Amino acid sequence: MSEKIALLKELKAECMSCTTCRLHKGDSKVQKPHVFGSGNVRAKIMVVGQNPGFNETQKGKPFIGAAGKNFDKFLADILELDRDHIYITNTVKCYSPKNRAPYWDETDACRHFLRREIEAIQPKVILALGNYAAQYFLKKTGMKDLHGKKVWSEEFNVYVVPLYHPSPMNMNKPVLKQATTDDFIKLKKMLEEMEDEETSATIDSDTDVSRV
Ligand code: SF4
Repeated sequence: MSEKIALLKELKAECMSCTTCRLHKGDSKVQKPHVFGSGNVRAKIMVVGQNPGFNETQKGKPFIGAAGKNFDKFLADILELDRDHIYITNTVKCYSPKNRAPYWDETDACRHFLRREIEAIQPKVILALGNYAAQYFLKKTGMKDLHGKKVWSEEFNVYVVPLYHPSPMNMNKPVLKQATTDDFIKLKKMLEEMEDEETSATIDSDTDVSRV
């Protein structure tokens, strides 16, 4: 465990001083645009959003504010989990001027940070929040078709489940709110199945060992 924490601390330090792409400059409102991931380093669920907004840069933590609160409520009400159980980060580690979406060359420049973060945490599943994060992992657009489905990512060696972004704008739309509720219910079942598979794999391997 201490090796994992040391690895993440090193990665964070590298990220916080990164000047590889234009986003490191911030803008007139934000002089420190870097925000690294945070949460439980043993988490089975890793949540990945687009990139930090203004509020996140002020607190130095990803996914706070109204969207974060909406997400926390789904997490608590349906999965019976809180932030202590998960790890949250972004595809791109810096805020972008006027909160525009990162350009793809910026995303590509930053890609190695998330890859190394995933390798360190080794989650069972990644929840990709919103269209940008879904496209990042799955190279496809169209949340209507993608949301709530578990897809294996060869690149990151992990299952990815895209979810609608829990922004107030989305969650004030009854159709999207209901779809997200349904997706979390499906997710709960997926997590239980993954847990069962893990338990049976452990029993099988124990059985094998006892035969030797
Ligand atoms: S967005 Fe990523 S690659 Fe660009 S400066 Fe920030 S940390 Fe570096």
